[in-house]
Amino acid sequence: MNGKPVLYRDAKTVLNVNNNAFKEKLLCGGVILNLGDACAYSCSFCYVGSMLRFHAPPVLSAYTLTHGVTLPFQKVVIRRQNAIDRLRAQLLDRKGRRRYSDDDDARVVFSSTTVDVAANMELLRETAEACNMILQHTGWHIRLLSKSNLLHLLVANEMIPSKYHHRLIFGFSTGTLHDNVAKAIESGSATVSKRLESLHWLQDNDFRTFGMICPSLPQDDYDSFSSDICAAIRVEKCEHVWAEPLNVRGESLSRTLAALRAAGLNAEANNLAAVSGAGKGKAWEDYARMTFLAHTKNIEPGKLRFLQYIDTGTAGWWGERRRLGAVLLGKTAKAKLLTAV
Ligand code: SF4
Repeated sequence: MNGKPVLYRDAKTVLNVNNNAFKEKLLCGGVILNLGDACAYSCSFCYVGSMLRFHAPPVLSAYTLTHGVTLPFQKVVIRRQNAIDRLRAQLLDRKGRRRYSDDDDARVVFSSTTVDVAANMELLRETAEACNMILQHTGWHIRLLSKSNLLHLLVANEMIPSKYHHRLIFGFSTGTLHDNVAKAIESGSATVSKRLESLHWLQDNDFRTFGMICPSLPQDDYDSFSSDICAAIRVEKCEHVWAEPLNVRGESLSRTLAALRAAGLNAEANNLAAVSGAGKGKAWEDYARMTFLAHTKNIEPGKLRFLQYIDTGTAGWWGERRRLGAVLLGKTAKAKLLTAV
C-alpha cells in the first residue's frame, strides 16, 4: 500500500469515546476513530510512532520473524484487523440496539489521530464504510483530516449518502503553500496545490470545512506567510482554523531537518536549525509567538484555535492570549486550569 507492506494489529477497539487530549484541542467532543496505527504516508515530523511505542513493536517483530526483514514504523502500514466489525460492536449491542441512541447527541468524532483517512482508494472506502456506520447509528458529526486530494470523493462520489453530508466537516493539513517543502517533509502525500483544489471544491459546493495550518515551519516573514495561507484556505469559509508550529516529539525535529537538507531546502533548514537545539528555548518560543500573532491578524478569535504547549515560564503570556485564540495544552495548562475544556 503506497509502496509499504501492510501489517495488521488485532486491536480490540477502533473508537475511543473518552479521549481528553483531542477534546482539549477542540477537535472533537472526546470521540476519536482510528482504523489503523501506521500511516500509508511518511511525514518527517510524524510522532505517531512514539505514541504507539507499546502497540507497534509486537506487530513489527512478528513481521521480522516471518519475513526475516526488520522494518521501522515509518516503513509499514498497520491496519486494525476487522476494523468495521470492531466498530459495529462498539456502536451496537448484541441484539443490534444502538449504544448511543440519542439523535440529539451531536458530539464531533475526529479521525484520525494515527493515520491519514484517505491515503489511497482502499483506505478511503474503509473510511466511508466506518463513517456510514457511525452516521447511521448515532447522532454524531464527523471531522475528517487528510493530506490527500481523494478526501472530497467521499461526497463527490456519494460514497457517503447526501442525507448525511451536513454532519461531515472536512479539513486538509496545509502547513506550507510550497509544494517542494511539502514534498520534502510529507513524503507520499498529495501536493498542497492538489489538497487546496479538493478543499475549494468542497467549499464551492457548500460543504463544511475547517483549516489546519499545521505544522508550520519558522518563517522569514510571518505576516505574509499567514496572510497568504489564510487566503489560500479561504478562512472566511472555514468553520474553525487550527494552527501549530512543529510539534517536537520523538525524532520529529531531527528527521524534518534532515529531510529539508536532503531536498536542498537549505534556507528552510537553516531557519529551523536557528530556533532549535540546546539552549534555543527562547528562539523556539519566539517562533511560536510570531506564528500565533501573525495568525491573529487574519483569523478572528472565535475561529482561531492555535495549539500551544506551555510551561510555567510561558503560561502567563499565553494565558492572556486565550481570548485571541490560543488553545493551551500540557501538564502546566491543566494544573493552572488554562485548558479549553
Ligand atoms: S499524514 Fe499524519 S499520520 Fe500520516 S505520516 Fe503524516 S503526520 Fe503521520
